[in-house]
Amino acid sequence: MKFMCECGHPIYDTTDYLSYKAHLISDQDWFDFLEEIDSAIEKSGPSEIDKEKALMKIRSLSSNLTKKVYQCNKCRNMFFYNNPPRLEVFRPSSDSVNKKLLRSAHGDKWKGFLNGDWMDNNLAWRVKGFITASCLDEGKQYDDWEILEKEYYLVFNELSANNLLRSSSLKKNGNVFHTWNLTALWRSFN
Ligand SMILES: [Zn+2]
Repeated sequence: MKFMCECGHPIYDTTDYLSYKAHLISDQDWFDFLEEIDSAIEKSGPSEIDKEKALMKIRSLSSNLTKKVYQCNKCRNMFFYNNPPRLEVFRPSSDSVNKKLLRSAHGDKWKGFLNGDWMDNNLAWRVKGFITASCLDEGKQYDDWEILEKEYYLVFNELSANNLLRSSSLKKNGNVFHTWNLTALWRSFN
């Protein structure tokens, strides 16, 4: 999804982990939601299928109960996306309103992502390679694989050294060159 703010700034919702998007649950629904999580943990059966069913129920409930909220990071307008689909705008009372109202509760310590991808021949792309990362405002484009690879590892080393990474992958022509995942690492230690 993409829509334009009245200030002319485009607001994209085409990837995960957006710092200007949040999922809002009404207080009228919040405790029911917590109870459903408790019951999924405590009352679901012991098998993998039982666990999967309980998990699907929670995921479905979370998408039914939440409203999507967006903030324009240029003019600070807030948008509530309601069900049935309807976008409602709220304007800030002053220029001092926080532009990053919807970012992670972890603030600067939020663990982000890094992805690099390269294709020798892909007519759908304007360039051969690009890097996207949570620490970059926009994706970076490349026409030289060696530069892309070098910059990927520079960003990777910096984010991992600062404990600011959750997942990372580098692909060339569809083959995975490098991959790293905090969850997989955590699982392997537990
Ligand atoms: Zn705006």
